Amino acid sequence: MIKFFKLIFLLILYCNQAYSDELVNLRFGSNEEKKRIVLDFSKDTFFKHDVFEKKIEISFKNKIKIGPKVKLQNKDVKLNYDENLNKISLLFNKNIFSTNVYLLKKKQNVHSRIVIDYFNKNNRKRIIIIDPGHGGKDSGAIGLYKNLEKDITLKVGLLIKNEFKKYPNYKIVLTREKDYFIKLRNRTRIAKQNNADIFISLHADFNRNSRARGISLYTLSERASDKEAAALARRENRSDLIDGVDLSSETSEVTSILLDLTKRDTLNQSSLLVNFLIDSFKKDMNLLQRTHRYAGFAVLKSLDIPSVLIEMGYLSNKHDSKLLVTESYQKKLSKKIVKAIIEYFDWKDKNNG
Ligand SMILES: [Zn+2]
Repeated sequence: MIKFFKLIFLLILYCNQAYSDELVNLRFGSNEEKKRIVLDFSKDTFFKHDVFEKKIEISFKNKIKIGPKVKLQNKDVKLNYDENLNKISLLFNKNIFSTNVYLLKKKQNVHSRIVIDYFNKNNRKRIIIIDPGHGGKDSGAIGLYKNLEKDITLKVGLLIKNEFKKYPNYKIVLTREKDYFIKLRNRTRIAKQNNADIFISLHADFNRNSRARGISLYTLSERASDKEAAALARRENRSDLIDGVDLSSETSEVTSILLDLTKRDTLNQSSLLVNFLIDSFKKDMNLLQRTHRYAGFAVLKSLDIPSVLIEMGYLSNKHDSKLLVTESYQKKLSKKIVKAIIEYFDWKDKNNG
């Protein structure tokens, strides 16, 4: 008989140890922006956690038990318990941001709680660098009607900044807001210092073929997609020579890093941005044939910032030359650029890019 009681006693002890911490309740809460999940436990429990894009894993020190009344999911998130690993996984439908996981200790009549706060939207402002090409002693191309490229790029840059005022989630930084000279390397440095999400350089150059007209978009390539692209990049990259600096010494270093995976990803992102820009322009604006081109522009060489150079048209063409100095055209252009940028980031948000 005593043996029997001993057995019962040991069994109770064992059960108690085996399931010392019980998840008794799972609660979900949210206000407009912030969301919260609360896991009520019978006792204060020791755990560590890992946060992933769409998942939080919580590993427990003591064996836990999921109570019978726990509702394991709502529309945003589902709870899985792996008994072998003694680990809870919370699987989210959407990416989670700014996640905070912490324990609130047990009080007299209140359960011990693991609280998870998170956002579904990245609330950090997107930082867009707009780079009006040329400036100061570097006038850029000179148009058929003596209009200067540097003035056109600055006007469009300022219009883009103004247009973005409607979108508080974006911070716009211009590499120059007035007519002064900046070295090419300082343009990319401004992007880096501002922790930029994307970099867009604005130009309106000339083409040897005076009939060539329309918008073209450039992303970085070690090899130019055609002779014209190569010549254009050479001319642009000479801009720093005006100030007595030769970029050629930097090239080999940059070229070797170009093979890096980070760079690959950045190039893919740049191309994605180009696609959104083309989509935005194509309805009612002139595009140059093979609109997306590749060349080794110095301003596109940031390793981790998707970068696109927009040739807004050619000052060597009489149609483009007239349009580019027209305010209504400049406004239209800037609105389309803004639209494309916003669509690009919306797409990224939806596709976890
Ligand atoms: Zn230019």
